[in-house]
Amino acid sequence: MTYQQTKSTLKKEGLAPSKKLGQNFLVHEHTAQRIVNAAGVEAGDTIIEVGVGLGALTYCLARQAARVIGIEADSGLIRMHQEQQQLPETVELRHGDILKTDLTALARETGEKLKIVANLPYSISSPFLFQLIAHRQAMASAVVMLQKEVAERLLAQPGTKAYGAPTVLLAACAAVEPLLKVKPAEFHPKPKVDSLVIRITFDPQPERVRQLEEYNPQLFRRVVNAAFGQRRKTLLNALSSAILGEDKERLAGLIQQAGLDPRIRAEKLAVEDFIRLSRIIEPALS
Ligand code: SAM
Repeated sequence: MTYQQTKSTLKKEGLAPSKKLGQNFLVHEHTAQRIVNAAGVEAGDTIIEVGVGLGALTYCLARQAARVIGIEADSGLIRMHQEQQQLPETVELRHGDILKTDLTALARETGEKLKIVANLPYSISSPFLFQLIAHRQAMASAVVMLQKEVAERLLAQPGTKAYGAPTVLLAACAAVEPLLKVKPAEFHPKPKVDSLVIRITFDPQPERVRQLEEYNPQLFRRVVNAAFGQRRKTLLNALSSAILGEDKERLAGLIQQAGLDPRIRAEKLAVEDFIRLSRIIEPALS
């Protein structure tokens, strides 16, 4: 496809790009192919594609994978593909909202952990990432295109402004790596910002986390969210009301027991620090 072809296909089908659905369609096949190549799709793979759109990525995925399950929320696009009948037989189109899709049930259905590839609608990138974390046991990998600054937050190192709760929550269950940058000129309509494709490789217990033995993921999430909820405050102040009521002295003792200075700020802590801290706090809560 070219930019003009994308525009004329939409016009012919009576479709207009929807902002609400985050529709920025890829207009160059070579860019879609670069993303699929970087994703390392293999011949036997079943790939879940989020947001098929006009099919830019779908056609490239279908050339390399055994099966593609494409989930698309826009009924106009679903109707277009059903009428055109141009998608290869190995592509199974499903009309639905990925945020309402049970990823664990989908993994059970396909018989394997999920490999997701998507040019994500930017409007859902945050809830979708939290959905991946919630279903981490069902996930193998996700290669997703995100707004560059959102992707950079997931890749951030402790001590930087971009480092936050999503960075830490994802780092506890996955490894994240940058794959390639994509410029606004590659889309119709053109977004205002650059995009970055990243690979998220899931492991329910990465080695560095495994070394810390068992931890309670719910409490870990609570501690991380409370710490970053007021990131300009010290760790002690940010956690005191949210975790242990007003008993600051006791909390300060627990933070020290985890080998941390209560005056430190959340952004300086590595994922292992948060896990150690939540393990030490847990008995104090009961
Ligand atoms: N894959 C196509 C491409 O690369 O050109 C389209 C990408 S476009 C950025 C995002 C696509 O996701 C749109 O087709 C949009 O309709 C679809 N979409 C938006 N929200 C969705 C949701 N909650 N569930 C499934 N698909 C969604």
